[in-house]
Amino acid sequence: MTRIALLGSTGSIGTQTIDVVQSLGDEYQVVALAAGRNVELLAAQMRLLRPELVAVADEASRTALIERVGRSTPIEVGPAGLLTVATVARAELVVAAVTGALGLPPILAALQAGKRVAPANKEPLVIAGELIMALSRRNGQPLVPIDSEHSAIYQCLRGEDPASVARLILTASGGPFRGKTRADLAAVGVAEALAHPTWKMGPKITIDSSTLMNKGLEVIEARWLFGLPVDQVDVLLHPQSIIHSMVEFRDGSVLAQMDYPDMRTPIQFALTFPARQVSPRRRLDLAAVGQLTFEPPDFDAFPCLGLAYAAARAGGTLPAVMNAANEVAVDRFLAGELRFLQIAETVETVMHQHEVQAASDLATLLAADAWARRAAQEVS
Ligand code: MG
Repeated sequence: MTRIALLGSTGSIGTQTIDVVQSLGDEYQVVALAAGRNVELLAAQMRLLRPELVAVADEASRTALIERVGRSTPIEVGPAGLLTVATVARAELVVAAVTGALGLPPILAALQAGKRVAPANKEPLVIAGELIMALSRRNGQPLVPIDSEHSAIYQCLRGEDPASVARLILTASGGPFRGKTRADLAAVGVAEALAHPTWKMGPKITIDSSTLMNKGLEVIEARWLFGLPVDQVDVLLHPQSIIHSMVEFRDGSVLAQMDYPDMRTPIQFALTFPARQVSPRRRLDLAAVGQLTFEPPDFDAFPCLGLAYAAARAGGTLPAVMNAANEVAVDRFLAGELRFLQIAETVETVMHQHEVQAASDLATLLAADAWARRAAQEVS
C-alpha cells in the first residue's frame, strides 16, 4: 500500500496524478490534498478520494470549501497548511506539484519528516538544489523526479555507475516559437505563447516553454538531481517530444527514454518506483510517428536559455534570483504589462543588479528571492 500526500491537487500535474492513482487501483491511496483557490474542483476531489486532511490558499477559500463539503474533514490554510499536508503522518510519498517558489518549504519539510518525495515542479530545485539534495541524502529515500526529462534521465541511469556518465542531453520541443528569429518574436502575444505544440500544461510552464526558460530551469534542476557540472548538461531540440531525454556514457553509448508526451508516464513511474505497473495508456507506435528530428537550440532568439546557464555557473543565490525575476516577468507578460522579449530583458536586468551570495541557508535564498521579485516589478 502506498499512501500519498498530493500538493497542488487541482493543477495540471495534480489532476493527472489522481488519474494515475485511480488507474493503479487499491494499492495506491491519496490521503491528503493541498490546493490553492479552485474549491469547486477540490470539493469534487474530496468526494472522490475521501482524504483525511486538505489545505487551501486562504480563509476565503476555506469558507467557500466548507459551503460545499461541510466541516467533517479538517481544512488547513495558507503556507502552514501546505506544510501540514506535506508532513501528514499516514503518507509515505509526497507528490510536490505546487508551481513556483511556494513549493519549496513543503518539500524541505517532507524530506525532514522522512517522506519519499516526488518533485514535479522545478523551481524548488532551481532555488535551493544544494539544500534539497543534502536533505535528501540524509533522508535516505530516492528523490524520483516527475519532470518528464528528469524522469527519462533517472530511468536511463538506473544501474549505471554515475562516474561513467559523459553528459546529459535534455530534449526540448522548442515550444510554439521554434524556428522564429528574435525579430519575429517582437510582436507575439499571450495567446500565441500559450499555444504549446505538444504538451498540455499550466500557464506558467507553458510561457516558460515558449521562452525556453523552462529548459533553462531544467538544466539547473538536472545539475542538482544528477550531481553533474552544468557544462555536462546539453539541450537538444526535438519537436516530436517522443524522446524525453538521453544520457551519453563515456564509452560513447547513448541511452534514451521514449513515449508519447503524456505526463502520466513519469507520474506513474514516480508513484510505483522501484516497480513498474501496467498502464492503460496507448503504447508508443514509432511506425505511426514516422520521424524523429533534432536541431540545436537558438541562444540568440531565446536568451533565457543562456541566462540559465550563466546563473548555474555563477551559483549561489543567482539561480534563485533568476527564477523569481522570471516568475514576476511571466505574470507581467500574462497581464499584458510586458511584451514577449521583455521577459528575458527583465530577468537579465535583475540578474545584473544582484550581488551574488553563497546559497548557505534557506533564509539567504528566500531573501534573494524576495529582493528579485521587487526588482522585477520595477523594471520597465
Ligand atoms: Mg519538463
